[in-house]
This record gives sequence, structure tokens and C-alpha cells, in this order.
Amino acid sequence: MHYSLNTTNKCDWDCKYCIVDVHNQPIKPIEEVLKDLDTLTSKDSLSFAGGEPGMLSKSDVTLLFDKLKIINPEHIELLTNGLFIKKHADFLHLIDSIDYHCVDSLNDEIQFPDLDQNYVEYVIVVTEEEYPLLDKFLEKYKFIPKFNIIGSREVQPMSMKTKLKMVMKYRDRMTDNSLKVNLSPECNSLGY
Ligand code: SF4
Repeated sequence: MHYSLNTTNKCDWDCKYCIVDVHNQPIKPIEEVLKDLDTLTSKDSLSFAGGEPGMLSKSDVTLLFDKLKIINPEHIELLTNGLFIKKHADFLHLIDSIDYHCVDSLNDEIQFPDLDQNYVEYVIVVTEEEYPLLDKFLEKYKFIPKFNIIGSREVQPMSMKTKLKMVMKYRDRMTDNSLKVNLSPECNSLGY
């Protein structure tokens, strides 16, 4: 089974499409985060999500990975806006894949982490308002073959009509997961 672990309610970004209230909620106690791992087994996979997992202190990340080393899940994926990569590089060898939410807005520039690019998947969230910028953005980063492109939901949602248009036009630049997520009526695994 796949689990998504909400490691913190906090984030250093303020994306207008974020569905987590990252600036007004109380901090999630680490004891609660550790307890959420109680049902995880070695046959399961886990997304290390947030808010932004990079907001955790080094001691909290250490506690989490001490427990994860014992459970030894099948796969650990990190969802990050890059803060975790900068702040907790010592733990990256314990992570199997990274979903790097690389820009808040399509007007922004991607900061490239110094990592083996094979295990980084670039994630962008596209709102209805910014959809017209997608062409230029993908052209600028044409050396990245595929992005995990998510049409935003709930907050500043992209309409289903635009989502279908996006899938038809950019399917060759979209990961299989993003094709599936955009065509699914249910909330996606990233929570965006
Ligand atoms: S969408 Fe992600 S990066 Fe943006 S504010 Fe929310 S948690 Fe932070």
C-alpha cells in the first residue's frame, strides 16, 4: 500500500494554489508524525510530504529516519520544494526518489540541485491563470524530457476543459503519473 506522510503543516513558500494552510496551523508535533508511521510495513511505500518536509529540524528528521530504517519500507519518495535538499542533504541517500516542486510560478526560474538527475522528477503546478505561460516554460526547459505537470485543484482550480486541452497538447512532456492524475476526478497524491 502507498502512504502519504504529512510531516509538517509548515512551508517557506506561499503558493496561491496550496491546499494546506501552511501559515496558520499549529506545528504538527513530531510524536504525532512518528505515530503515523505505526501502520507502515516493509511491503509499503511512503511519500514524505508536508507542507514542506525541509521545515523539520535535523533532530526530527533523524528521529523519523531512525524509525524508517527499522520499518524499511519498499520505497521512500520525497516531495519537496528544494528546502529539504538544501537543509538535509545528509539524509538524501536514504530516499529512493524525489518529486521536486521546482517553481512556485511559471514565471520563476528552476534552481537545479546538485543531484543524480535520474532520481529527481520535476513537478510544476499550473493554474488556469498561468496556463498560457506553459508553452514558453516547457520550451525554455526542453532539456528536461518530462515534467510532472499538475493542473491545480480546489484553490485556484484549473477547469477540466483546460486540463484536457493541456493533456492533449503536452502529453509527450508529461510523466505517466501526471497524465493519470490530471484525468482522475479524485485528489492527486501531491495534494496540490
Ligand atoms: S504547494 Fe507545496 S511548496 Fe507551495 S506552499 Fe504548499 S506546501 Fe509549500
